[in-house]
Amino acid sequence: MDLGLTNKAVLVLASSKGLGKATAMKFAEEGARVMITGRDGETLKATAKEIKEKTGSRIEYEVCDITKKEDIKNLVQKTVDAFGNVDVLINNAGGPPAGTFDDFGDEEWEYAFQLTLQSMIRAVREVLPHMRKNGGGRIVNIASSSFKQPIDGLILSNTFRTAIMGLAKSLSQELAKDQILINTIGPGRIGTDRIKELDQVIAGKKGISVEDVKNELEQTIPLGRYGTPEEFARVIVFLGSEANTYVTGQAFLIDGGMVKAF
Ligand code: NAP
Repeated sequence: MDLGLTNKAVLVLASSKGLGKATAMKFAEEGARVMITGRDGETLKATAKEIKEKTGSRIEYEVCDITKKEDIKNLVQKTVDAFGNVDVLINNAGGPPAGTFDDFGDEEWEYAFQLTLQSMIRAVREVLPHMRKNGGGRIVNIASSSFKQPIDGLILSNTFRTAIMGLAKSLSQELAKDQILINTIGPGRIGTDRIKELDQVIAGKKGISVEDVKNELEQTIPLGRYGTPEEFARVIVFLGSEANTYVTGQAFLIDGGMVKAF
């Protein structure tokens, strides 16, 4: 199958590590030009070098804190300056902190909103004129399995991931006429630094080792293991490609069968 990604301009938010990085790598493997972002310049530079060396594709990077309006504006402009357009936007973010209702005040709620939902709103707003001018585009949002089934102790994620899904569904209706397709993916447990941190939180609470937490959680996954960032990225790349011509407004999980809801 031809994904039609050669020379496409792809912008991946929060992509110096983890799922964002794996997604950028896969798009680059398919011949796309990719802009990666994160807050730490040194990590970004190293990631850009690694992707470039592995794929031979053109990779640009820009330091950007996605909670800041001006940073997102600048990021999209830099992408257009470098590639002439944005064909594909991947909305990703750092994970909001773990905790229950009693743990958070207004400040933490506001920050989680800016990190997860507001960043997506702003990035979509900035890329739309370019996608419309170019006759279409693809947007894929990385959220969490918490939009199907809340995760204990992750109230900020549970709240804002469902909002991402609601926004994306509305956008799919409004943007279809512009040939812009938008979908949302919920990772279950894919082995990244974020998952290690969350496992450490559980280990601390239960007084057991991180390895034991992983073993216990793997038993709740029908496929019997955590996913890899690479197998996660393959699905994102299909949805963001020219091969996807008829999937829009959908939200589904990459979770090895972990969530039992339909
Ligand atoms: P990760 O390994 O911690 O990577 C997060 C990436 O986001 C890093 O590149 C980080 O770089 C960047 N980032 C964080 N805050 C940022 C900000 N304010 N501005 C710009 N970049 C920022 O996390 P991950 O596992 O890949 O997860 C990605 C997303 O999927 C998270 O929202 C996570 O909650 C969600 N998720 C993941 C899983 C999973 O299985 N891995 C499951 C459910 C949900 P800097 O820190 O240098 O900025």
